[in-house]
Amino acid sequence: MKYLNQLLHSAADQLSGYSRREFIGNAGKTLLAATVIGELASAESASAQSTAGGRGPGPRSMADAIKVEVPTQHAPSEGAATSYPSILPKDKRAGYAIVGLGELTLGEIMPAFSACKNSKPVALVSGDADKARKVAMQYGIDPKNVYSYQNFDDIKNNPEIEAVYIVLPNSMHEEYVVRAANAGKHVLCEKPMATSSKEAQRMIDACKKAGKKLMIAYRIQYEPNNRQMMEYTRKQKFGKVKVITAVNVQNIGNPNQWRLKKALAGGGSLPDIGLYNINTNRFLLGEEPYMVNAHTYTTPNDIRFKEVEEAVMFQMFFPSGAIANSTCSYGVHDSKHYRCYADNGGWFGMDPGYSYKGLMPEVSHAEGRVQNKMQPKIQEKNQFALEIDHFSECVIENKTPYTPGEEGLQDHKIMEAIYESARTHKPVELARISTVDTFRGTPPKED
Ligand code: NAD
Repeated sequence: MKYLNQLLHSAADQLSGYSRREFIGNAGKTLLAATVIGELASAESASAQSTAGGRGPGPRSMADAIKVEVPTQHAPSEGAATSYPSILPKDKRAGYAIVGLGELTLGEIMPAFSACKNSKPVALVSGDADKARKVAMQYGIDPKNVYSYQNFDDIKNNPEIEAVYIVLPNSMHEEYVVRAANAGKHVLCEKPMATSSKEAQRMIDACKKAGKKLMIAYRIQYEPNNRQMMEYTRKQKFGKVKVITAVNVQNIGNPNQWRLKKALAGGGSLPDIGLYNINTNRFLLGEEPYMVNAHTYTTPNDIRFKEVEEAVMFQMFFPSGAIANSTCSYGVHDSKHYRCYADNGGWFGMDPGYSYKGLMPEVSHAEGRVQNKMQPKIQEKNQFALEIDHFSECVIENKTPYTPGEEGLQDHKIMEAIYESARTHKPVELARISTVDTFRGTPPKED
């Protein structure tokens, strides 16, 4: 099948653009119909061998992905035909060790692997052996691939693990990113990257030194509806975006949790949820702020906020003249939205915009006397699966991730400027950067 695939692609290389896609689609359907059953069978047996023998994947590329088509049952007026994903055989997918089995891992990341096309969970790292054993049983992970924080470095001897996904409290990210890189593994790290720009820089340096990739898990930048908003902004669909408003607020509970301890979290609502405002504003515009202005507010005597701030209101000023006005708070009911105001007849945004699910784009534009208000939604996909698969593709094809460590470091520099502005009651200037997408790597493929 791989040989047939190569033949098909080299014949198609003689063509270009649409005709190339059409050629592969039509010829591929015939070949796939004849071979896909055999391919799947051999993939399963290779997968079984790989797991039994504990070997890592052999030579592979994204061209090994299998696509299966069935005839469409719907009229063209029903919208675009269903696109079935191209999926790598299991033995060729990138194998992950997931570090930290808390709310995000159990609620989102482990379930997301079932929607992944290039990635699979092969190992778990936890301080709670009993919990890890149960999760391993749930997801078919070999019990020999369950590690503790103490024997974590032994992952270096396990070729099934190619990448490590760090899902620990923020202050622990640096230690586990560095240990993972030193064990010879690529690293996907949750946001915020660290608790300071110094830590973030050390994490980048350690991964560079070890020759390993580092990506920060900014899921919003991989989500199709948010990417659509980014395109509206960059292509000036309704004119130039001059103002962005962004809100990310939620009412935090248990006063004893690590998110409210400065040493573990690095700060309060800003690094946890205000980071979405910062990072998404930068992503939408592609620009970097040259100045910030900020104020914090904390309700006196609220036992939750002994160490960290409750709310931050901040403005980011961009070289194009755009201003983003953002609010994050741990003290009011959940709301996550943003809106981009442009100068030629329209505004657009998302409400909710930063949530895991239920995203809702909004567009308002004028046509003469008519004001159109629309909710033009692209079918949602699992954001965590998109982000994990992008990293796997970068590992498999040796590419720089779209959101590498440098993207996370820049957010830390901005957060430090925001805290300084709030402390001094003065605007704080940042390095002037005039290029676009300065810290981003290879853009994710649209599926
Ligand atoms: P959590 O508290 O639910 O889980 C943290 C895990 O770390 C737990 O299993 C806990 O046992 C373990 N741990 C190890 N040492 C610990 C210590 N000293 N103190 C506390 N816990 C310790 O947290 P979470 O919500 O899963 O968040 C984990 C990371 O994921 C954080 O960096 C957070 O910012 C990030 N996160 C990202 C998103 C997103 O949308 N990308 C959403 C939620 C959380």
